[in-house]
Amino acid sequence: MSRLVMRAACVCELACACLVLASGAQAQQQDVQVETIEVAPGLHMLVGRGGNVGVSVGEDGVFLVDDQYAPLTEKILAAIRELSDQPVRFVINTHWHGDHTGGNENLGQAGAIIVAHDNVRKRLSTAQVLEVFDAEYPARPKVALPVITFSEALTFHLNGYELHAFHVENAHTDGDAIIVFRDANVVHMGDTYFNGRYPFIDVEHGGTIDGMIAAANLVLGMVDDDTKIIPGHGPLSNKVELTAYRDMLVGVRERVLAEIESGKTLDDAVAANPTAEFDAEWGHRFPPDVFTRLVYMDLSSR
Ligand SMILES: [Zn+2]
Repeated sequence: MSRLVMRAACVCELACACLVLASGAQAQQQDVQVETIEVAPGLHMLVGRGGNVGVSVGEDGVFLVDDQYAPLTEKILAAIRELSDQPVRFVINTHWHGDHTGGNENLGQAGAIIVAHDNVRKRLSTAQVLEVFDAEYPARPKVALPVITFSEALTFHLNGYELHAFHVENAHTDGDAIIVFRDANVVHMGDTYFNGRYPFIDVEHGGTIDGMIAAANLVLGMVDDDTKIIPGHGPLSNKVELTAYRDMLVGVRERVLAEIESGKTLDDAVAANPTAEFDAEWGHRFPPDVFTRLVYMDLSSR
């Protein structure tokens, strides 16, 4: 795979979108405010920097979906203390990326049980390289690793809800989990859903455009007009917006595939700007040319 060297100006934006090295992010986190948004009774979404956090509070304790970056743990815990005086009992990671798992070490040391798909533990327990960001991620210490892993699905019975976590294959990564809060009509999609922007697809770690489309279709088949959908990145969402996102993914896939089938090289396909009709709505937070490259690399590798 060729190394994609990002334009310097894009690196921060991309990094903020999905992946900041926890070590390098320290200085940037001091002025971050953690905002709390009520999604349903006892269920909240925390927005700081990094992936959106889901929080369930109630008589059985605090259950978290993702934990952003290590330097934000204190601010996240302060936001949780406004909702509950109980400790964090469980953390489920939607995938391995550092903007969703950076708080694992702090929370694991404090006694939380970390849960994730089998492949998240594999990724976190060994060093990872992302050539697209020219970045390396060291193996995490034992206390930061999931101690319960699953291959397909897992259900928690907590705080009056059934929290159903299930794996979707080869979507954003090879270890994605989507969490459905049954009875509350809430879904946390992790980074299978970037609301209002092109998604990063981690094609170096099993991500595929077809898996992203399949994940969106799967969720669309289980939600209704009242369902609250927490995306990995972007504002709290719903079925209408997820439908538009799915349609954009399908459209970009078709257009990039047409460039491949016409014999264009990667660089020529990017130069042809196959995402043009979608860029005004989706191209502000993630560079269209990078998205095209990722989709091309995925579709041409099969
Ligand atoms: Zn991610």
